[in-house]
This record gives sequence, C-alpha cells and structure tokens, in this order.
Amino acid sequence: MTTPNRPTPQPGILDIAPYLPGKSGAPGSKAVKLSANESPLGASPKAVAAFAAAAEHLEIYPEGSSRLLREALGEIHGIDPAHIICGNGSDDLLHLLAQTYLGEGDEAVMNRYGFSVYPIITKAAGARIVLAEETDYTADVDLLLAAVTERTKIVWLANPNNPTGTYLSDAEMRRLHAGLRPDILLVIDNAYAEYVTAADFSVGQMLVDQADNVVMVRTFSKMGLAAARIGWMVAPDHVTDAIHRIRGPFNVNLPAQLAGAAATRDVAFNEDLRAHNARWREWLTAQLHGNAMRVVPSQANFILVLFEDAAAAAKAFETLLKGGYVVREVGPSYGITNGLRISIGSEEAMRGVAGILTEMGAGR
Ligand SMILES: *Cc1c(COP(=O)(O)O)cnc(C)c1O
Repeated sequence: MTTPNRPTPQPGILDIAPYLPGKSGAPGSKAVKLSANESPLGASPKAVAAFAAAAEHLEIYPEGSSRLLREALGEIHGIDPAHIICGNGSDDLLHLLAQTYLGEGDEAVMNRYGFSVYPIITKAAGARIVLAEETDYTADVDLLLAAVTERTKIVWLANPNNPTGTYLSDAEMRRLHAGLRPDILLVIDNAYAEYVTAADFSVGQMLVDQADNVVMVRTFSKMGLAAARIGWMVAPDHVTDAIHRIRGPFNVNLPAQLAGAAATRDVAFNEDLRAHNARWREWLTAQLHGNAMRVVPSQANFILVLFEDAAAAAKAFETLLKGGYVVREVGPSYGITNGLRISIGSEEAMRGVAGILTEMGAGR
C-alpha cells in the first residue's frame, strides 16, 4: 500500500456534491431575494431586542443546554423541555442524527425531491442514500416503504417538503411509521410546519410521544431568524441521551437562545407572518396556475412553479432577474429542470413576480 502524500478525507466525502444555496443577485444589486424562503416581514421585534441585549456580555459562555429557549418552546408548544434539544440551525441537528445513527454499509431512504441536505449528511456519515420515487411531486408512502431494506437505518422526510411544498397528512405519516421496523428512525423535518393551513396535517408530536423511533426537527429560520441559526428537535429519551453525548457543548450561541425564546413567545408576530403567507401563497398560486405554468399546491412559504420545459424555466429566471427578483433554480440541486421555486414575499414582490410571469405566459 502506498502512503498518500497528504491527509485524505474519509471514503465518500469527495463524492458529495456541495450544497447550493439560493442566489442573492449581483453584489450591490437591489434585487429582491425570493430564493431562500426567508421572512418577508423581518424578525420579531422582541427577538431583535433580545439579541441586541445579549451583546452586553459576549465574553460569557452560553448556558449549554439552551434551557431558556427549551422552556419557552415547551410552554408554547406543550412539550416537556427535557425532550427538546436545540441546535445551530436544524442543519446541526440533522447532521448529529446522521452521525449518531448511520455508518458504513447503512442506508437512509428519502423521497426523490426531498431536501438536498439529506444526501450530504448521509454520505458524510459513510452511508448510502436511497431515493424513493414520488407521485405527482409528493412523497409516496408505499414507495418509501418499498425502498426500505435490511440496511435501512433512517427515513428522512421533510413535511411539508422543500422544494415542492407538498405534504403528507397525519394519517399518511402514521401509515408510513406503521410500516417501518422499530429499529428504523423516522426523522420528520418540520421546517415549514408553521405555514401549513391544511386541516389534516400534524407536526407528528403524538408519534414522537408514543413511538421510540420518531423524532421531529424544527427551525426558526423560515420564521424570521435565519441569520441567528436556531433549530430544535423533539425526541424520545434514548435519542436525546445519544445526541447530547456528541453535540457541541455550547452549540447554540447566547444571542440566538434569547432571540429564539423571545420569538417563540411573540405569538402575535408569528400569527401575522402565517396570515401574510397564507394570503399571498393563495393569491400567487391563483395568478400563475394555468397561465402556461403549473403551480404545485404548496403548504409552505414558497411555491414550485413548473414550466413547459427547461428552456422556458431558464427564460423565466432571467426575465425575473432583469425585473429585480431572484428566485431559486431547482434544476442543479434537485433535478427539476423545468421548475423555479419562488418564496412568498411582500405584497409588492408578489404583484411584481405575477406581473412578469403572466406577461411572459400570455406572450408565448
Ligand atoms: C430550510 C430548511 C431547513 C433548515 O435549515 P436551518 O439549518 O434550520 O436554517 C431544514 N429542512 C428543510 C427541509 C429546509 O427547507
């Protein structure tokens, strides 16, 4: 065996395609960013004040378990804070789950157009990612279950899903769980749960409480605090016990902990954000759908717009950019080459985007 002449990453690391974030437009451009599902109403003013106040004591280590944040979450969501673990974004928690439960020879299952971070963290842990086909851009429980093998250790499922915006009902989620062996961890990633209006949806808290193999992962990023990097997870004791052993001992910084706690309690702001999103999601969908475009029905804070072909999507992307709007191309990361993902933004932005796209559709 020859000795390499420099340090070598673990097998598989260099096969990972790096995560592609949503574009921000040219540096210095005034383009409106509708490519990263950020809040169009800013952050909760109470969270901003809490974050700023924490700047007084940057020399002190934060409390390591994010206790104040877990207590606020427990109070508002009716969850025992002992079952909550906070992270530096939910990304941190997803990585920790992969590292804890996946290794060489293992498999993780996800739906084809599931969140693009799942293949990265699965491969980073040395395991293989298995894609289950979808039905009409929606995760299909039967196909997910059919993709499970003896090697499967995790099923990753964003509900609602990014980049499609589609969701599984509570009944479907239960059917998926019922079909999994008890040694397979079902990871329900609820990054967009706050925006769901469908009556048959649930975040899966009952499943987490009742089963030993279900965790729910949440984030503040889509609710106005993306820059603060705060995620949280609800899990059974044996899972929190394992994760606490390997997480960074101070993985959530103090300004973020305090901002997160204040944002959690700012129920009025969260309500405004939800109401704004529901209104303009419905409006934009109605404006675009059928106008030489198809809008995949969304329960999130973005819509996936499907064009006739990849060239039509590329033309729409460029035309929107010229008009001052940066949206998300979903060809490179997700393989939906005829699609664009558009975040729900301000009323002005929604009217602007609808005007440009309907004019393009009409002029075809
Ligand atoms: C945005 C997003 C996340 C969250 O990321 P953070 O690390 O918390 O900012 C997680 N899952 C999905 C599906 C997402 O779209």
